[in-house]
Amino acid sequence: MRVAVLGGGLQGCCVALALAERGIDAAIFDRNDQLLSRAAVANEGKIHLGYMYANDVSYSTARMMMQGALAFAPFFARHLGSSQDSLSISRPAAYVVHRDSQRSPGQVSQYLKTVHGLIREASGRRGDAYFGRDLTTAPRMWSEAEREAEFDPQIALAAFDTAEVAIDPAALAGAVRSRIEADPRIDVRLQHQVTSVDDADGFDVVLQARCGILRERFDHVVNALWDGRFAINETRGLRPDRPWLHRLKYGVSFRLPRGTSLPPSATFVSGPFGEVVSYADGLTYLTWYPVCLQGISTDVTPPEWPTYPAEPLRSDLLQGTLKAMAQFVPCLRGLDPGGLEEVTVKGGVIVAWGETDIYDPRSELHRRFEIGVTSRGRFHSVDPGKLTMAPYFAEVCAGRILQDIVR
Ligand SMILES: Cc1cc2nc3c(=O)[nH]c(=O)nc-3n(C[C@H](O)[C@H](O)[C@H](O)COP(=O)(O)OP(=O)(O)OC[C@H]3O[C@@H](n4cnc5c(N)ncnc54)[C@H](O)[C@@H]3O)c2cc1C
Repeated sequence: MRVAVLGGGLQGCCVALALAERGIDAAIFDRNDQLLSRAAVANEGKIHLGYMYANDVSYSTARMMMQGALAFAPFFARHLGSSQDSLSISRPAAYVVHRDSQRSPGQVSQYLKTVHGLIREASGRRGDAYFGRDLTTAPRMWSEAEREAEFDPQIALAAFDTAEVAIDPAALAGAVRSRIEADPRIDVRLQHQVTSVDDADGFDVVLQARCGILRERFDHVVNALWDGRFAINETRGLRPDRPWLHRLKYGVSFRLPRGTSLPPSATFVSGPFGEVVSYADGLTYLTWYPVCLQGISTDVTPPEWPTYPAEPLRSDLLQGTLKAMAQFVPCLRGLDPGGLEEVTVKGGVIVAWGETDIYDPRSELHRRFEIGVTSRGRFHSVDPGKLTMAPYFAEVCAGRILQDIVR
C-alpha cells in the first residue's frame, strides 16, 4: 500500500505522520525546495478555540475549531516528543471589541460565554489537551481601568480574557521538518509540481520535475495542496458548485527592543480588524486587515504570490501595520520600524468559501465549518480551513485509508 500526499504544508505533513503511525508508507510531493514553506509558515499560529467567529451564531464554526484545537497539542506531543516542549506558546489572547465591530460588546460577551460552555463540554476529561492550559475559567471582562491601561478606550469598547494561545509557526515548521526527515516510512519529493492525478490501477500522479514529466502509481492519493487543491481536483472532474475566495494576507513580526513593555496578545473583533500576538521573550506578531490584505482571486489557481514580499511592499506593510495598530495599542507607539530586530514580513493565501470580503457581516467568510476531508473512493481532498485543524483532519484521513486497507 502506497499513499501519495500532495502538498508538504502542515496538512500534508500531518497526514504523512498520521499514516506512518498506522504503519502506512507515504510519499509527500511539493513543488518548493523545502517542506512547510508557504501558508504553513506564514500564518499567525493562533490555535483557535472558536472565540473568533462571533458572526456565526449557529456556533458551528466554534464547535469545529475547538475540535481541532483540542487535537493539536496532543498530536504534536506524540509525534515530536520532547522537541515540542521547545515550541513557544504566546501569551493568551484578549478578545477586544472594536468601535466599528459588526457585533456589539453585549453580543460578543454572550458569544464568548456560550463558546466557553461548549469548550468545557468538548474538553471533558481531556482537561489538559490545550497546551496544558486551564479551560475551566470563563472569559472575564476587563475593568475600565485595565482596558484604558492597554488600549485606547475610545476604540476598544470592551475586552475579555481568554485561554486562547498561538504557537510560533516557524518554530513548529522546523521541528516537523526534522521529524519527517527522520521517518523511514515517509519519502519526501521536493521540487515536484503536481500537474494531474489520472485513473490507472490505482492512481497515476503526474509530476513536473527537473528531469521532466514523471508518472508514479499509488493506491490512495491525498490532495493537501491548499491553494493548489482546486486545480488538481478539477483534473478529476471535481469542481466546487459554490463561490470561493483566495485572499492574500500578510503579517509582520519582530523582536521588541529589550526593556520595552510587552503588548497584550489581542484579537480585535468582529470584522476587518487584526491581531497582536505577544510572546514572553519579546517576539511580537501583528496583522491589520485593511493594510495586510493585499490580493483577492476567484480563479481556480490563484497567482503564486510571494511568501516574503520584496521592497517597497515589505516596508510599507511593516510601517503601515505598526502605524495603524499603534493608534489604539499605546505600547507600540514608540517603536521605530527601522530600528526593530528580527523583522519578518510574511504572508500567504487564505482559501475559504465566500463571495464577499469580511467587511460584509453576512459574508460566508465569517463561517468556516464546511471544511475537512472529502473522499471519492481512494482519492481524498483535504481542506484544513485553518492551521488549527490540520492534525485533526490528518487523523480523519489516515483513519479512512487504514479502514480501506483492513476491509
Ligand atoms: C496571514 C495568515 C494568517 C493565518 N493565521 C492563522 C491562524 O492564526 N490560525 C490558523 O489556524 N490558521 C491561520 N491561517 C491559515 C493557515 O495558515 C492555513 O489554513 C494552513 O496553513 C493551510 O494548510 P497547509 O499548511 O497545508 O498549506 P500550505 O503551507 O500552503 O501547503 C500547501 C503546499 O502545497 C504546495 N503546492 C501547492 N500546489 C502545488 C502543486 N501543484 N504541486 C506541488 N506542490 C504544490 C505548496 O508549495 C505548499 O507547500 C493563516 C493564513 C494566513 C495566510
